Amino acid sequence: LVGVMSVPRERRVGLVFDDRYLTHNTGLDLIEDRALYPFAEPVPHPSSPAQAGRAKHLMDLYGVAERMTRVDPELVTDDQLTVYHTPEHLARVTAIAGTDGGDTGAGAPIGRGGDRVARLAAGGTIAAVDAVMRGTVDAAYALVRPPGHHAMADEGMGFCVFNNAVVAARQAQRVHGVKKILILDWDVHHGNGTQAAFWSDPNVLFISLHQDDLYPVGWGAVDQVGIGEGEGFTVNIPLPAGTGNRGYAEAFARLVAPISRQFSPELIIVSAGQDASVFDKLGRMSMTLSGYRAMTEAMMAVAAECCDGKLVVTQEGGYAPEYAPYCSAMIAQTLVGLLPGEELIPDPYGERAETQPASVELGLDAAEAMDRAASLLRQYWNL
Ligand SMILES: [Zn+2]
Repeated sequence: LVGVMSVPRERRVGLVFDDRYLTHNTGLDLIEDRALYPFAEPVPHPSSPAQAGRAKHLMDLYGVAERMTRVDPELVTDDQLTVYHTPEHLARVTAIAGTDGGDTGAGAPIGRGGDRVARLAAGGTIAAVDAVMRGTVDAAYALVRPPGHHAMADEGMGFCVFNNAVVAARQAQRVHGVKKILILDWDVHHGNGTQAAFWSDPNVLFISLHQDDLYPVGWGAVDQVGIGEGEGFTVNIPLPAGTGNRGYAEAFARLVAPISRQFSPELIIVSAGQDASVFDKLGRMSMTLSGYRAMTEAMMAVAAECCDGKLVVTQEGGYAPEYAPYCSAMIAQTLVGLLPGEELIPDPYGERAETQPASVELGLDAAEAMDRAASLLRQYWNL
């Protein structure tokens, strides 16, 4: 038809959120030896409902959520979980959820009924993948909790009960016929559970940026590259404490983006932990809102180039109750884009966010860490 102009339609971005996520109860961070910790006042567990709840609140206040398409989570089924997790782990989680609460593994507590919330978190990330793969939305943010990336096949770990990203990636492959998936993990801790799941799998490229040997100890070294057919498809980029916006930008430009493009995924899942922020008590990085915006834009660009924009962001960590929610809201605002005249969500850190050294300088130790990673990864990727 002559003269018909193609009008770009508005990007549709899904939001998975459910108030039941805020009922996941991690209890108190009890320190058992009272001789070493003699104070009487209880210490709240760092994985609190405040992060996700406040992130949603900010998305509402800044008009972001209203521009997103609501995607309802469903409870993940046993069949969907056992693509990775053992039946024994499922049974243990169910049993603990029938008590007043306990640990589902190594530091992954749930309260009574917590199995349903954990299943809703995995089911939420799956719902985001379903919506993107069916074309209901172009991209989606699964603002779920508990997080997932530390969860191993046979146990919960590091506040994670089920590995949301892993079971969602397998859903994309089993139900939607996707072959190649990129999972990019920018949580400040290493995504050990996800690495373990795809250790020998060449069809799922796992890239992790994390603080060097922070948690879990021993995981995420640059020479951990996968085995067998999967060799080279695990990419670890350990960064020194203090790496901020400038260093992360360098890592994306020099390593993450070129490797991602060469792999050319059909779907991208981002394990988005906002605990590399400058205010986080469980990490020692210096990222600010603009850094999270830049990383989101970088992955949107790769997705646009490789897979028609198919991008699912799933919530992992983030423990600064006054700041991590802003980072999450900024990610969502970046996904939906700014309307004409609309302003960016302001950084509560103020001007200092952009002027602190970590925002403008590439530290020598960060540059060296990237040199090391690049020289090792060059045997698998054109860098
Ligand atoms: Zn983390």
